[in-house]
Amino acid sequence: MSFNIALLAGDGIGPEVMFESVLLLKEIEKLYNCSFSFREGKVGGVAIEHYGTPLPEETVELCKRSDAILLGAVGGPAWDHLPVEIRPETGLLQLRKQLGLFANLRPVKVIPPLTKSSPLKDSVIMGVDLCIVRELTGGLYFGTPRERRIGLEGEEVIDTLVYKRYEIERIVREAFELARLRKRKLVSVDKANVLESSRLWREIADALSIEYSDVKLEHMYIDNAAMQLIKKPIEFDVIVTENMFGDILSDEASVLTGSIGMLPSASIGNGPSLYEPIHGSAPDIAGRNVANPLAAFLSVALMLRYSFGLSKEAECIEGAVHSILLEGYRTKDLADEGKTFVSTSEMGALVRDAIQNKYLDYELVNFYEKCR
Ligand code: NAD
Repeated sequence: MSFNIALLAGDGIGPEVMFESVLLLKEIEKLYNCSFSFREGKVGGVAIEHYGTPLPEETVELCKRSDAILLGAVGGPAWDHLPVEIRPETGLLQLRKQLGLFANLRPVKVIPPLTKSSPLKDSVIMGVDLCIVRELTGGLYFGTPRERRIGLEGEEVIDTLVYKRYEIERIVREAFELARLRKRKLVSVDKANVLESSRLWREIADALSIEYSDVKLEHMYIDNAAMQLIKKPIEFDVIVTENMFGDILSDEASVLTGSIGMLPSASIGNGPSLYEPIHGSAPDIAGRNVANPLAAFLSVALMLRYSFGLSKEAECIEGAVHSILLEGYRTKDLADEGKTFVSTSEMGALVRDAIQNKYLDYELVNFYEKCR
């Protein structure tokens, strides 16, 4: 029951939420029969400062030798002027590519005490529990050519949206498998009325649905999906979509949960999986001890469950997060009148304390669920 975890804190609020995540894992070690060894690597802006590249080879090697990878966030204004090949975000994209992390799972579950933190009505978001399966290593973010150039009519720019059949097949299959473990409803999001890549996507999803006849498949255009996600989010179970659509839809979905600081993610492929909050490095609040660490904590829970098979420990973290929110503690992003605002480190300490009272947490959460 001993696991090696690669820690890639990155930039901005990344190191702040990572620090609290490590303290959380040390607390889990004390209470359960498991141990973690941590090895740190650099990616993003911090790697540019140290190595002149956003993804040093030794970081890739460290990740490959680990049982799982925990990442904070990358990027920031200090590196925005750099050419795209050496920007922090390129380091993260290349890491996903080199580790073959083609599937990004983004669970979106509305936690009852947080309904007032969302600008949407309680009646719209109550009970929302969906998962976005985003393709992570193809599409517009990786296609070439990608450049500015001088064409016959002057300056022009090109990005390329390219998918191979097997890339679409494996991500859609992953989504069907996930839907089987949930409510057996899959919405495949595309823009098949305009894009050729979407037409192949839809064709492949239809072909696979014969094999997964127990799952109800529906197709939806991205523009409609963006609207339905806000209008009737309760209707969704699993959503599968290509890289850029998934990137945008999941930020939108974070509004249902109250804050982007609440959404965890798991990126899986053939090797070790990578876990990270969906938010970025939030330069506007970095270094002020106000970032919400809960998305990072919930990412830790996903890691314990999916990479290490430690379900009890994962539930303990999720239960502790719920109970702290139920008690009325909030970081600033979860604006809600009458609640107690706490800093990043205070929220970390509260969740660690709640973990020690793990049985009490469950009783509280169960009690609350029954009252609803
Ligand atoms: P962002 O997610 O960093 O921030 C968007 C807004 O949400 C900001 O107002 C920020 O303060 C707030 N926010 C984000 N996380 C929060 C948290 N945990 N607690 C409280 N508030 C939080 O997105 P952005 O501003 O578009 O991008 C900032 C930088 O992050 C850019 O350099 C971008 O490229 C990078 N980025 C990185 C990742 C990643 O590492 N996976 C993802 C998205 C953006």
